[in-house]
Amino acid sequence: MSLPFLAPRLQLADLPTPLEPMPRLTKALGGPRLWVKRDDLTGLALGGNKTRKLEFLFADAVLGRSTSVLTFGAIQSNHARQTAAAAARLGMPCDLVLTELVDRGDAAYRESGNVLLDKLFGASLHLVPKGGNPEPIAREIIARREREGHRVYLIPTGGSNAVGAVGYALAYHEILLQAHGAGLEPLAIVHASSSGGTQAGLLAGQALAGEGPSVVGINVYKGDGSVKKDIASLAEETCKLLHASHPAAVELIDTQIGPAYGQPTTDMKEAIKLAAETEGLILDPVYSGKAMAGLISLVRSKRWSSEDCVIFLHTGGAPALFSYPDLFS
Ligand SMILES: *Cc1c(COP(=O)(O)O)cnc(C)c1O
Repeated sequence: MSLPFLAPRLQLADLPTPLEPMPRLTKALGGPRLWVKRDDLTGLALGGNKTRKLEFLFADAVLGRSTSVLTFGAIQSNHARQTAAAAARLGMPCDLVLTELVDRGDAAYRESGNVLLDKLFGASLHLVPKGGNPEPIAREIIARREREGHRVYLIPTGGSNAVGAVGYALAYHEILLQAHGAGLEPLAIVHASSSGGTQAGLLAGQALAGEGPSVVGINVYKGDGSVKKDIASLAEETCKLLHASHPAAVELIDTQIGPAYGQPTTDMKEAIKLAAETEGLILDPVYSGKAMAGLISLVRSKRWSSEDCVIFLHTGGAPALFSYPDLFS
């Protein structure tokens, strides 16, 4: 393994997050031995996977003498919520350019969950209608902030560039060490993928280690092949930044997207219920619920034997559950 790359990093997360067994879910599904990596417990503002990326992105912002941040997302973006909280902690104004990507016009979707928290953290919300272009709106906001004397740091959707993905390269090593400590030899890490930084980072971590569990992304975003391509190129870029060799081929499973990003599926609802009732876990309708549905379908297809060990990476998202109040009523 090459020397770990020394990237400037701000401490925003409580690490390491726990790696826990899921004995009752394992039993309900008839094996393999399922464990969960609790990145829903990263600590910042109800947690989630974006916190690891933001440690590197905000360090880059501060070192570059930026004084305010701007990022993008869907209305119920977990990334926007975690960015708003990090910005509050650093005393930086935060602009969120949120696109109406999901056809859910009800008050809960538009006002509760992550949106409520974004406002609580003092972020400025700028809504982009469905089909609208967020870029000119962002340019206008940046110009306005600069007139106020700010230097604006741009964080891409999901915090998914190579700097952010470094957070998940390190998370891969955190998982390797915890698995080793628990006497496990996991075959795979399964998780939700959308903007791709999580999977790209994990693949870069694997390339750095030169061994370890394969990375299986469950696509919750677009079924047109673009997500996989984006992950592959971001993984290459992250490997370059880390002086690692090339990443393994991207494995991305497209069967759980359903009608569209953010639209509920029956399998997602069943997966959320099962994880809640067997393990007391809170999954969300947009990401981790569909990821768990993907894991369940892989288990049922007998991809692994009952002796094998598989890790579910819980990427968070619980606040979005409250913006879908009809799901389990
Ligand atoms: C953003 C997000 C993901 C997807 O991570 P990417 O790095 O964007 O692929 C998964 N789960 C949750 C809860 C998220 O908020």
